[in-house]
Amino acid sequence: MGRFIPLSIPNFEGNEKKYVDDALDQGWVSTGGAYISKLEQEMAHFLHVDNVAACQSGTSALHLSLVEAGVRPNDIVLVPPLTFIAAVNPVKYQFATPVFIDCDDSFCMDPIKLRSFCEDECTWDGSFLRHNGSIIKAIIVVHVFGNMADMESIMDIAMLYNLKVIEDATEALGSYYTNGRYEGKYAGTIGHFGCYSFNGNKIITTGGGGAVTANNPEVVDHIRFLSTQAKTDPHYYIHDEIGYNYRMTNLQAALGVAQMEELPEFIRRKNQNYQTYKYLFEGFKYARLVPFRSNIYSNKWFYSLEVNRSYISASMKEIIIALQEKGIQTRAIWGLINEQKPYQGEETYKLEKAPYYAARILNIPSSTQITEEEIKYVAEQIMLLFRSLANG
Ligand SMILES: *Cc1c(COP(=O)(O)O)cnc(C)c1O
Repeated sequence: MGRFIPLSIPNFEGNEKKYVDDALDQGWVSTGGAYISKLEQEMAHFLHVDNVAACQSGTSALHLSLVEAGVRPNDIVLVPPLTFIAAVNPVKYQFATPVFIDCDDSFCMDPIKLRSFCEDECTWDGSFLRHNGSIIKAIIVVHVFGNMADMESIMDIAMLYNLKVIEDATEALGSYYTNGRYEGKYAGTIGHFGCYSFNGNKIITTGGGGAVTANNPEVVDHIRFLSTQAKTDPHYYIHDEIGYNYRMTNLQAALGVAQMEELPEFIRRKNQNYQTYKYLFEGFKYARLVPFRSNIYSNKWFYSLEVNRSYISASMKEIIIALQEKGIQTRAIWGLINEQKPYQGEETYKLEKAPYYAARILNIPSSTQITEEEIKYVAEQIMLLFRSLANG
């Protein structure tokens, strides 16, 4: 058949070549150069924030946020179980302890369980403590697949218990609230820190790269300082703090500036394609297209089908392989992080929805280049397959 419809691939329709060539011509390829600050300014403008620091990856953005939040060995950080593992690994880089809190139907952290964990499992004694005496320092909230977590509830709880909120907005660049307390606020600009990723499959890419913002612009300056080896004196090699080699390069930023120009169009297409899938899967008995929260405008980065397990018992692997044979690339949602080897001993709190969705969610092709004809083919092949797999 020869057809291949990828899950999510980068799109370089704009000025990418031009800007990268320009960076090369100027000889600025490393962690200095005008494209880096240009990208930071464009992002700050887009997100309506004062200060953004470009860095090497979403993971490094998250790590620097934890450092800046003061997360230290043995502190506790509340984290999600159902997301990409890079959201949680930086907790371990700080030798801190994750506690996994369940998600709600948005796949993001469930504020009701977050609140009951804080009320029932912790005590207040000058700082917010676990019964074993560890300090609970921060929450990592992931805006999964471009959806947004219930930030009003989460911020209320965080303020009550003096917790730092790190928004992992790596999948949600461009998503924002359309009403409520945070109307007009973008994912990553509500908590204390917001982290973005420009990895290859994200809505915009710099090959590898990321960015971080914070509610305090001086904190972003300090993050930028830490990301460039914490050089205190510009003339001598004086370092008063432990730094990191986490700064974005000018080559990456050249790509990023071009991609930022296209971001609104990418978001428009993702939304339009989502609507097409929605129309096609309307009323389908064996799977449903998972909706996004109704009080946000989502970047609709990734689309999720929930397999109806009342009829379909085939494993995700069987489904993925069968679709692959039709030239359609799909993937299962992540394995639960608390079940991965390095995390098996860690505490979990009331995980119900996370394992439920882990067994049911299939991500379907969502690249910005996908054509309407391809979307129809994908939907048709999935429906054919599911009908043939269904029992009852
Ligand atoms: C992609 C991603 C990251 C990591 O970003 P990198 O740029 O790949 O380091 C972190 N968290 C989530 C939820 C992600 O999807």
